[in-house]
Amino acid sequence: MSRILIIEDEERIASFVAKGLKAAGFQPTIAATGLEGGYLAQTGEFELIILDLGLPDEDGFSVLARIRSTDTETPVIILTARSSIDDTVAGLENGADDYMAKPFRFEELLARVRLRLRPQATVAEDQVIRFGPLELDASSRRTRLDGREIDLSAREFGLAEAFMRNPGQVLSREQLLSRVWGYDFDPGSNVVDVYVRYLRNKIGAEWFTTVRGMGYRFEEPV
Ligand code: CA
Repeated sequence: MSRILIIEDEERIASFVAKGLKAAGFQPTIAATGLEGGYLAQTGEFELIILDLGLPDEDGFSVLARIRSTDTETPVIILTARSSIDDTVAGLENGADDYMAKPFRFEELLARVRLRLRPQATVAEDQVIRFGPLELDASSRRTRLDGREIDLSAREFGLAEAFMRNPGQVLSREQLLSRVWGYDFDPGSNVVDVYVRYLRNKIGAEWFTTVRGMGYRFEEPV
């Protein structure tokens, strides 16, 4: 299980990233300041570091410089609200491995995390998930029911994957929203209900149970 350090002062984003990483089988730790983050990074206990550039006590770049002065190996992914290409290029030149511009969807960050981790550490979760006749292949992004391919849009696929990785568990609209649509999405939106309806139409209503006042549960029908 890979340990990942998240250096991010904005609590909403830090917890959104941490929850997603935990669900994907990683072990996240949050640091809310450059001082704490830089210190933790230098303990050498983390396989990957996610670093926000806009920290309250110092610039993310100076934290990065401190990390890189002793550790040139651990991959660092920068989170930045600054969309200017100059900052990004500067970050990559200063020893960051990749970057994400905010706002981002969790799945995009997860893909970068997996890419940057050593190959043996990336098998955090299975690529093919099966429940009886239903099969989802996360690498080829294909879904099959009774051996027949189901045509799902990217969002439908993301939602199906979120359900299939948490079978039997009630997932709230909020959890599904942040997992599939991103933290910047309006929590009052009914988009989750709309997409669950799409999945029910394509896969079968019996797979998705509405849990009143709580959310939805995915289960193999008996
Ligand atoms: Ca920040």
